[in-house]
Amino acid sequence: TETPQPRRARAEIDLGALRANVRTLRARVDPHVQIMAVVKADAYGHGALRCARAAVEAGATWVGTATPQEALALRAAGLLDVRIMCWLWTPGDPWAEGIEAGLDMSVSGLWALTEVVEAARETGRRARIQLKADTGLGRNGCQPADWPELVTEALKAEAQGLVKVTGLWSHFACADEPGHPSIAAQLDVFRTMLDFAEKAGVEPEVRHIANSPATLTLPEAHFDLVRPGIAMYGVSPAPEVGTSAELGLRPVMSLKASVALVKDVPGGHGVSYGHHYVTSGDTTLGLVPLGYADGIPRHASGRGPVLVDGRVRTVAGRVAMDQFVVDLGGDRPAPGTEAVLFGPGDRGEPTAQDWADAADTIAYEIVTRIGARVPRVYL
Ligand code: PLP
Repeated sequence: TETPQPRRARAEIDLGALRANVRTLRARVDPHVQIMAVVKADAYGHGALRCARAAVEAGATWVGTATPQEALALRAAGLLDVRIMCWLWTPGDPWAEGIEAGLDMSVSGLWALTEVVEAARETGRRARIQLKADTGLGRNGCQPADWPELVTEALKAEAQGLVKVTGLWSHFACADEPGHPSIAAQLDVFRTMLDFAEKAGVEPEVRHIANSPATLTLPEAHFDLVRPGIAMYGVSPAPEVGTSAELGLRPVMSLKASVALVKDVPGGHGVSYGHHYVTSGDTTLGLVPLGYADGIPRHASGRGPVLVDGRVRTVAGRVAMDQFVVDLGGDRPAPGTEAVLFGPGDRGEPTAQDWADAADTIAYEIVTRIGARVPRVYL
């Protein structure tokens, strides 16, 4: 009674591997440190609801998303038994819905505090907010110079019963480059900002700054909670942090397709748009029905690796919108033969990191951009 597999292509999502990765991360932090499973961007392409549930089963007590819409969708889908935090708010976003859904909502500045306080008055319910400090990333978050005012205003709203400051938090710029001087500098700034807020009277449930690389390499940055994303999906944050295997992590996503066509061509045959690949002699070509609309980077044209029929082949010529070609060098696998673009890497197949190298990008982008046309099959 095997489930029929989608023919053209599929992303297999190994939830057992995800659970094992969460347990591995759990074992690397002190027992009091909580885990927030980061499931933004549809869990980096792996499917937010399924991954959030699996992470909670394996010991995560928080789930994190970027946008409030992502967080609200998880609540609406029935993810009720876990704290959900979201951090990327834009003026006019649904603060009142966030309060009703019991979200922990990040506040990076006075405009956001004003909007959330207004929503608390409207709903008659206290909003759970987490104040975000920009300790040096230079992206979202409150600058140190503006922190005293934000903290003071948040405490006033707390005294009026409109908000509860549940967390104080920040995010690293260079944690994936162990030893980078900005890491210690950000930690210093974070401690100073925490100190100010706590002396002013904030009693946060959680203080947190660590993403995957900091979870894996920097125990002093764990505080009360860590926020791993990529490590939970079994992918190393960066080669210098270690390979997945070295870190004890197992890649969760495998991208597979069926070879759609195999044909003989003579030497001198141009392949795909622009004829950037020309066969050097009689050979066979295999058509893989995945393209840049499915998230296969066009930048990996001529370079992306694919395991077909026991050998790793290379994308011949350009990746097109829906398909690309590999030169099979005279081999004639039957149409329908499996092509593995990436997976854990222990059966000879390439990894997402190999595709990242071929496309001059990071493995995060490879898994996250696998498109909606590729069905996710959960193992
Ligand atoms: N925390 C925040 C605020 C993030 O934006 C992200 C993702 O970039 C993470 C944690 C997880 O990062 P990583 O996937 O490197 O663990």
